[in-house]
Amino acid sequence: MNLDKFHNISNALKSHQKLIAVSKGQDIDKIKHLYDIGHRDFGENFLQELKEKKDMLPKDITWHFLGNIQSNKVKDIVACSDLVHSVSRLKVLDKISQLDVKKNIEILLQLKLGEEQTKSGFSEIEIYEIMEQNQFKNITIKGLMVIGEGRIEEEKLKAQFLQAANVFNKMKTMKKDVEYLSMGMSNDYELALAYGSNMVRIGTSIFGARTK
Ligand SMILES: *Cc1c(COP(=O)(O)O)cnc(C)c1O
Repeated sequence: MNLDKFHNISNALKSHQKLIAVSKGQDIDKIKHLYDIGHRDFGENFLQELKEKKDMLPKDITWHFLGNIQSNKVKDIVACSDLVHSVSRLKVLDKISQLDVKKNIEILLQLKLGEEQTKSGFSEIEIYEIMEQNQFKNITIKGLMVIGEGRIEEEKLKAQFLQAANVFNKMKTMKKDVEYLSMGMSNDYELALAYGSNMVRIGTSIFGARTK
């Protein structure tokens, strides 16, 4: 675990920028340690792991869900998470809308970057269509999430982050609830911040290599 790195990143952030410590595959002790020095935002990718950790850790943690969402797990995922970043299919939006819940579920729409067919996320056009539709019941769209493509040239990544920032800015003009651009991980968070990210999701740089 690299606490210096944690402090460096935290101290470099402006007041409107948030660090999500991505704790998937990391021991409870490490999470507890960051909690004890005041950190409250953690990110997980798998429902089962999230449930187990949530049970063992203090209740005032804000949990961010970052993983692939299977339709049959939507109900449990939204029940365990404070903000769901990785909504990338209409089926998931529909499922959330059909839930019998009291409060609105806060989500981010995932933007698909690059050309790869296997990548998940909505196209820019799809995002605007969703934003224009008359409210999915139960859902508050809080912003946009992007995963920078690994192994591409920096110039290409910059172009993608710029595209994401433009989509985010357009979303903000469409709905007043939009406030988060979740962009940047261990390898690319500095560039992401330079392009307007206000939520970086950082795992291995802070915690070290994942053990699971
Ligand atoms: C795992 C993961 C991260 C953190 O990645 P690191 O390279 O460990 O910083 C961030 N975002 C998402 C969506 C992830 O799945």
